Amino acid sequence: KSGFISIIGRPNVGKSTFLNRVIGQKIAIMSDKPQTTRNKVQGVLTQDASQMVFIDTPGIHKPKHKLGEFMLKVSKNTLREVDVIMFMVNATQKLGKGDQFILEMLEGNETPVFLVINKIDQVHPDNLLHTIEDYKAEYDFAEIIPISALDGNNVDRLLETIENYL
Ligand code: GDP
Ligand code: MG
Repeated sequence: KSGFISIIGRPNVGKSTFLNRVIGQKIAIMSDKPQTTRNKVQGVLTQDASQMVFIDTPGIHKPKHKLGEFMLKVSKNTLREVDVIMFMVNATQKLGKGDQFILEMLEGNETPVFLVINKIDQVHPDNLLHTIEDYKAEYDFAEIIPISALDGNNVDRLLETIENYL
């Protein structure tokens, strides 16, 4: 099995940390280069039963200028073509305007969207349940998976679940 995955989400939710963990140090350095308008491969994870290609989709936020509008358009088209969209959020923060903008942008897209709630090492399980309810009310997610990209908690389960969609 092989397929393409796009990780989207507001700054600092842990996207690079996740990629680092699953793919390795080298890739993170690559992905920290300044954003370009082109979608690019951030890394490839090859396992026994699958190959996952992670694609960078820059510009997924409210555009402030013409180039931003163009980048958003390119990324929107890419999001239609990947197999899975990982929408990553921060478990310690409430659903905000930035998250809402992304979810509105995803409306009408038929690609399965995973809600990946990161940084669960920093929250109490009761609060996590509330967060899940808030997000569920906003979008029909294919899967909801809490993880800690930092300590690796539940990351294997996330990868196994992605495999089922390739
Ligand atoms: P990005 O902007 O989405 O790529 O976010 P980064 O991967 O750069 O992470 C932003 C900050 O959050 C860094 O200081 C990370 O160490 C921290 N971080 C990322 N994942 C986790 C996590 O699962 N738990 C905790 N406690 N911190 C995390
Ligand atoms: Mg990053």
